[in-house]
Amino acid sequence: MKVIEKYNDSLHNPFWKYQLGPETYEVKDTPLRVASIKEALGESTDFEFVTAQHYPERLISRLHPYHDYIRNTSASLANDEEEFYPDLFPGEGAGLKKKVHEPLWGGIWCTDAVTPIKKRTYEVARASAESALTGAEMIREGTERCVYALCRPSGHHAGPRVFGGYCYFNNAAVAAEFLLPSGTVAIVDIDYHHGNGTQEFFEEVKSVFTSSVHCDPSSEYPYFWGYAEETGKGQAAGTNHNEPLPKGAGKREYLASLDRILAKVRDFKPSYLIISAGFDTHRDDPIGGLGLDTADYPEIGAAFAALDLPTLILQEGGYNTSTLGECVRNFLTGFLDAHRNSR
Ligand SMILES: [Zn+2]
Repeated sequence: MKVIEKYNDSLHNPFWKYQLGPETYEVKDTPLRVASIKEALGESTDFEFVTAQHYPERLISRLHPYHDYIRNTSASLANDEEEFYPDLFPGEGAGLKKKVHEPLWGGIWCTDAVTPIKKRTYEVARASAESALTGAEMIREGTERCVYALCRPSGHHAGPRVFGGYCYFNNAAVAAEFLLPSGTVAIVDIDYHHGNGTQEFFEEVKSVFTSSVHCDPSSEYPYFWGYAEETGKGQAAGTNHNEPLPKGAGKREYLASLDRILAKVRDFKPSYLIISAGFDTHRDDPIGGLGLDTADYPEIGAAFAALDLPTLILQEGGYNTSTLGECVRNFLTGFLDAHRNSR
């Protein structure tokens, strides 16, 4: 399986996190996550690392009205140590049209103060989206049946209005829009947190089926989205499906939810499948943590392979750097083994 990556090093390494007061303690989205995944995949001959291609900025900027704000703010910082956090959040309807791409006014574009901009953030977020695009192009052209893009930063909390939750550009949405002229797309998000940005992108688009299995948002981020009654809007009614789970949910409960999602994917008959693969569902994750163990991920990967679709797997969350790589490898190996056995 091809593993797409680009610039996955220390370029984006936030130090501060403002949450219940300023904290410097252990920001969890660190480059060590990528190192953990690369080390685990590097131990197997099943995986071949490939550098992501360059794509026109338009493929990202057309989906994100805050694209230029992120680019300009990154460019405005003097050095790699500086971090920019907006401190003014005017809310919807604010009359800031002339200033929306200036750093000081960035609170109109983001939802929180845990997603700072550093000097290299734009470059790294763009490379993450380009990794997704490279994988999307491979499955569209049919050169690969299944590709994994090692995206960091993650994308699924970044929406069509605002970004946040460690995410800048929505890699799944960028890939889906790239694929749409060639067919329909189903997106399944298995991160511990609901993929609110992805859902918002497509909740009125009937050619994209979106779904997510995640911890119940009444007690977990992103709190305001991810409930079972959110099923799509207007002409796209019925094309979104959420499976919120209680925090302690184990493998049996998890797989039952996933089965209900995959049945709906089959009914939708998509041309392409995108998996937003977060591994903060592992029981020892410092941010998330359902009742899943490292050894549970092959079966989860195999369930997706049974759909037998051109598949793009995108890295989302997962913050326990001592287990993350093994979770990813187990998921991908489970997928590959099931795929091979079905041929
Ligand atoms: Zn997550």
